[in-house]
Amino acid sequence: MSVDTAAATDRLMRFLAVPGVTGQEKAIAREIMAALKQAGVPAKAMRFDDANTRIALPTETGNLIVELPGRGTMRDQPRLMFMTHMDTVPLCAGAQPKISGRKIVNQAKTALGGDNRCGCGILVSLAAELIRQKLDHPPITLLFCVREESGLHGARHVDLNALGAPAMAFNFDGSSASSITIAAVGADHWEAEIFGRASHA
Ligand SMILES: [Zn+2]
Repeated sequence: MSVDTAAATDRLMRFLAVPGVTGQEKAIAREIMAALKQAGVPAKAMRFDDANTRIALPTETGNLIVELPGRGTMRDQPRLMFMTHMDTVPLCAGAQPKISGRKIVNQAKTALGGDNRCGCGILVSLAAELIRQKLDHPPITLLFCVREESGLHGARHVDLNALGAPAMAFNFDGSSASSITIAAVGADHWEAEIFGRASHA
């Protein structure tokens, strides 16, 4: 399957340039919706949930949820969900992405915000390629969460009824879009109190 990598790179450059630190996701959500519309996703397929009314910290908007109806031979297959988060850590505000050879670098002295505008780029490009190539696919939900960096608040408070009961979900917030983690050996919980100047979420 061929992918329009130039268009995908353009989308990522566009998303990296929009400030959207944790809790302030309105502008990046607007940019993502504009890119989805340009890719052929109708406006009525996109909406926000009311997660921000349940998050105790000030949050500009709810999670952005996009529903793509199934197409062709796979139209009645179980729904799949692809999710990511729209916010960046505060260090990323003011990033100025620039293409340098095969890399995207930052001209400003901030963090770039690849975490997680890469995820946003992946989800929008997924929708764009399915539409452009008229590929058969099951019903799909795209979920763009708010306030991940400050404590997974968007995912924690998502309106589950708005997701269309997906049979399986994939979260894009790791190192590579092509590697999939499907299990963990366990989990451990601990608390730490850190003193000093905040440098990350
Ligand atoms: Zn992340």
